[in-house]
Amino acid sequence: MKTAKPSPDAARHGAAHDHHAQGHDSAHDHEHADHGHVHATGPVSGSSLEAALAMAENYCRERGEKLTPIRRKVLELLLASGRATKAYSLLDEMRQIHPGSAPPTVYRALDFLLSAGLIHRIESINAFAVCHDLTQCQHGILVVCQQCGNVTELHEPKLRQALVAQIEAAGYRLAGDGIELKGLCAECQTAQAEAASASAEATAHS
Ligand SMILES: [Zn+2]
Ligand SMILES: [Zn+2]
Repeated sequence: MKTAKPSPDAARHGAAHDHHAQGHDSAHDHEHADHGHVHATGPVSGSSLEAALAMAENYCRERGEKLTPIRRKVLELLLASGRATKAYSLLDEMRQIHPGSAPPTVYRALDFLLSAGLIHRIESINAFAVCHDLTQCQHGILVVCQQCGNVTELHEPKLRQALVAQIEAAGYRLAGDGIELKGLCAECQTAQAEAASASAEATAHS
């Protein structure tokens, strides 16, 4: 007697019609402990986006600087993207809003945001991402997915200090604020495993 096994595929097709809201309700256990935490950046939208921009604006004002409309817009695009984004994609998006946007305007805005500590330059994939807390309190250690540009910032002050101390003991000084590790995020690992099994199956059938 055969019993029909529920296949994950059937379940997926069934669920396709449930427009389950993809909100930011992922129950982050907000550990208020003093030791580090991990902050995975993700797309920011709606009121959180406005709040983040207002916070950045205040932060700049306190530093005696101005988050001009163009700087604000570039920051907004990076917040909305939630992952590391290349300068030319930012320029493309800017051009959809302001057709005359020239590359130097976007680069100058990025330079400003970098110097203010609001964003990171992700060297390994030549892209930019918003800092985990939008203020230059202390940058963490970035883990960057080399496939899709997902960025996670490990906020482990002790780990960072220990690393910097070792680097200095070796006679080096870091070239910038960024400590960047190359990685492959969970989503991309899954995609890669699926692709590998699909190609193994294709080979088996040929
Ligand atoms: Zn940071
Ligand atoms: Zn990825």
